[in-house]
Amino acid sequence: MTIKTVKDLQMGLAEGQFSSVEITREYLDKIKQVNPQLNAFIHTTEDQALTQAEDADNLIAKGKSQPLTGIPMAHKDIFCTDGIATTCGSRMLQNFIAPYNATVIEKFNAQHAVMLGKTNMDEFAMGSSNENSYFGAAKNPWDTGCVPGGSSGGSAVAVAANLTPAATGTDTGGSIRQPAAFCGITGLKPTYGRVSRYGMIAYASSLDQGGPMARTAEDCAILLEAMAGFDRRDSTSMQQEVPNYQAELNHELAGLKMGLPKEYFAEGLNPEVARGIDEAITEYQKLGVEVKDISLPNSKIAIPAYYVVAMAECSSNLSRFDGVRFGHRCDNPIDLEDLYKRSRAEGFGDEVKRRIMIGAYTLSAGYYDAFYLKAQKLRRLISQDFTQAFDEVDLIAGPTTPDVAFKIGDKTDDPVSMYLQDIYTISVNLAGLPAISIPAGFVNNKPVGLQLIGNYFSESRLLNAAYQFQQHTDWHQQSAEVQA
Ligand code: GLN
Repeated sequence: MTIKTVKDLQMGLAEGQFSSVEITREYLDKIKQVNPQLNAFIHTTEDQALTQAEDADNLIAKGKSQPLTGIPMAHKDIFCTDGIATTCGSRMLQNFIAPYNATVIEKFNAQHAVMLGKTNMDEFAMGSSNENSYFGAAKNPWDTGCVPGGSSGGSAVAVAANLTPAATGTDTGGSIRQPAAFCGITGLKPTYGRVSRYGMIAYASSLDQGGPMARTAEDCAILLEAMAGFDRRDSTSMQQEVPNYQAELNHELAGLKMGLPKEYFAEGLNPEVARGIDEAITEYQKLGVEVKDISLPNSKIAIPAYYVVAMAECSSNLSRFDGVRFGHRCDNPIDLEDLYKRSRAEGFGDEVKRRIMIGAYTLSAGYYDAFYLKAQKLRRLISQDFTQAFDEVDLIAGPTTPDVAFKIGDKTDDPVSMYLQDIYTISVNLAGLPAISIPAGFVNNKPVGLQLIGNYFSESRLLNAAYQFQQHTDWHQQSAEVQA
């Protein structure tokens, strides 16, 4: 099956080269063949997909097509999908059938896109390797002994292995960008408030943001345009017009100022990854981009600040999963306390429990000021670093991750080394900024990701810079297809 981008499929459908039913069937067949090896999907929605594809073909025949009409895609299993299991990678929600659609899903439905299924993820989006999924780890198609990154690992694998042309992800501390980097695809984390969080199961509400994952920046532009926009059901969604992202892709980059933070090229970065990033930056210089050394001095406090904030918020958000209001209920409880305790003990995995306990501790009376309030202050300092940097430069560039994909099982016994995976991605979430990861080479046959960070609501510029890079390189065209 040849690899097709969303753009290719749009054109093929418009020209009648194939129908949505035909391409939907092809993807579903491919998923059936190779998903047992990759575990990218938690479940597929074949019947619904074929019905949606038929409806889309009818609309296309009548000339009533919208940009995503008939385009197959996959959704991270964190987005509520009406009448369809929505597990969030957890035993807690193994039997949860969402009674409504997330706004993001509604927006794709309104355009008559086709949903192939729901993708694997770390439980409640907590993790950097997909190994925390109750449904087992997804496998990196470049090397099935390696992790695909997380938490949106299933979505990244599905795109990289050509099981779908596009997918959704969510990014609280790097969960779109890090798996995109590990799987050699393009992933965009939008500005906080750009995409509605309604119906996206909450991990850490002040950091969570949904975004597109696809092969190219052009596809991400098409998808973001569909996903973005104000939603009165999300109080942090912003009332900002949605640009025509595709129309902005063609600007020349000459004169653009790109900042390289010295903290992102310091100790801990694999020198071969660093070499790949340097080459990518040279490519940008050839396109007329001016490169400048900058500093984000508070980078080193990002991880501790993030883990205090994220764990505090998750301990509060996950209190609703108690076996009464939501989630798994234990058998034969003897009283209410037993019901709560055993339901939660059985429903949540170890990492989720660890975070709930730490979060509850940092929020408790007497510790709140020392931990939570302090972390919020650090968060402000990190935002100020970026504000100052964006006085001098238009974009910030660096590696997405300190290394390429690691072996399954390598870091499961060492949570701190797992947390360090997010060293270059987390500050962006603390500040609420947009950032994109794009393929920029290989180390030992495993993909390297280049991260570009922009100022608030500069998604157009990020996509433009990523698109121009992809016009001059072919890293994003390399295939990780796995045979059955
Ligand atoms: N790896 C980070 C965490 O475990 C980020 C996860 C995410 O972005 N959802 O919290």
